[in-house]
Amino acid sequence: MYSNNRQYFEKIKQKAIEEHIPIIMDDTLEVIAKYLKDIKPTKILEIGTAVGYSAICFSKYLAQNGRIDTIERDEERIIEAKKNIKEMELEDVIHIYEGDAVEILPTLKDKYDMVFIDAAKGKYPFFLAQALRLLNDDGIIFADNILYKGYVMSDYNKHKQRTAVRNLREYIKEVTENENLETEILEVGDGLAISKLKTI
Ligand code: SAH
Ligand code: MG
Repeated sequence: MYSNNRQYFEKIKQKAIEEHIPIIMDDTLEVIAKYLKDIKPTKILEIGTAVGYSAICFSKYLAQNGRIDTIERDEERIIEAKKNIKEMELEDVIHIYEGDAVEILPTLKDKYDMVFIDAAKGKYPFFLAQALRLLNDDGIIFADNILYKGYVMSDYNKHKQRTAVRNLREYIKEVTENENLETEILEVGDGLAISKLKTI
């Protein structure tokens, strides 16, 4: 990163925090970064761009000519993300699919080395099925906010977020029971599920 980009990067982060945009937490990013350093992914798929903060962070670990496809449905956030990506001179690296991931994901055909799930919690099982379809043989899936403020592991279910909690539990059950996956659930940030396809 050039030094003016570094300054702009800090501004993106501070503005997102001030505006209560749920950007990836530092400790979660640290864990993912460790994996990405080893993997050196060529293609990353992100579900939930917000203002582009996490995609910008991940771009640092891409292989040469690597690329990130990221999906966002909120128009204002898309505008902000595009502006941020341009300021960081990453227009050739980060591509935004504008619209609902539920509609966009089934149209995708490329394979990805890493999928980062960070959007509507009620859709995590659907996102998982799509991520598995789009994953390279040695690919890895990260799912953020998987423990959702502790609700997921408690007996808590009388809440307006109970659909989210039910679907996050379903996600955990599916990745844990899937024999092709090796999964770890970490208590970093808001909870991070890491699922790697087993190599035969
Ligand atoms: N990954 C970002 C934060 C994403 S916040 C970062 O760490 O910097 C979650 C985003 O997902 C929100 O901006 C929300 O608008 C978007 N989102 C939620 N459900 C979605 C869906 N079904 N399709 C597309 N975007 C969605
Ligand atoms: Mg998140």
